[in-house]
Amino acid sequence: MDYFFSFIKNADPTLQLKMEESFPGSRCVGGKYSASTHAITLYRQDIEIQCKRLLGSLDRLREYEWIVLAHELGHALDKELALLSERLAETNQISVLEKIERNAWAIAKQYIPFIDEQLFDYIQTESLRYFSNSPLVQPSASPA
Ligand SMILES: [Zn+2]
Repeated sequence: MDYFFSFIKNADPTLQLKMEESFPGSRCVGGKYSASTHAITLYRQDIEIQCKRLLGSLDRLREYEWIVLAHELGHALDKELALLSERLAETNQISVLEKIERNAWAIAKQYIPFIDEQLFDYIQTESLRYFSNSPLVQPSASPA
């Protein structure tokens, strides 16, 4: 995992990276970024579970880990994150959450050009599916 640490330090020397076994609680969370500590945490078991669920096996676990890490790096480097988080806390709008997630994916992609683009796009699409399927983001679903 040393290359994960040097990758993170290269992108931002002030950013911390922690590796833990599993996310506390029942949710399956592969990684998270905490703005207050400027730290990314990866959860090994949760990443394996997600990888198996999405790709059917652990064959591409290493690539999947890179994508999760780059996504969290995307949050860490997003200059709009503070403002968007504030807006999200105020309005609770799902469209603001979607913007936060899309920003992270856009930044992530620039940092891992060595990862198969098709795999990256597939995982990005799957992770954003929640938003495209949500009636909350369809204007037609607004109350009259
Ligand atoms: Zn995210």
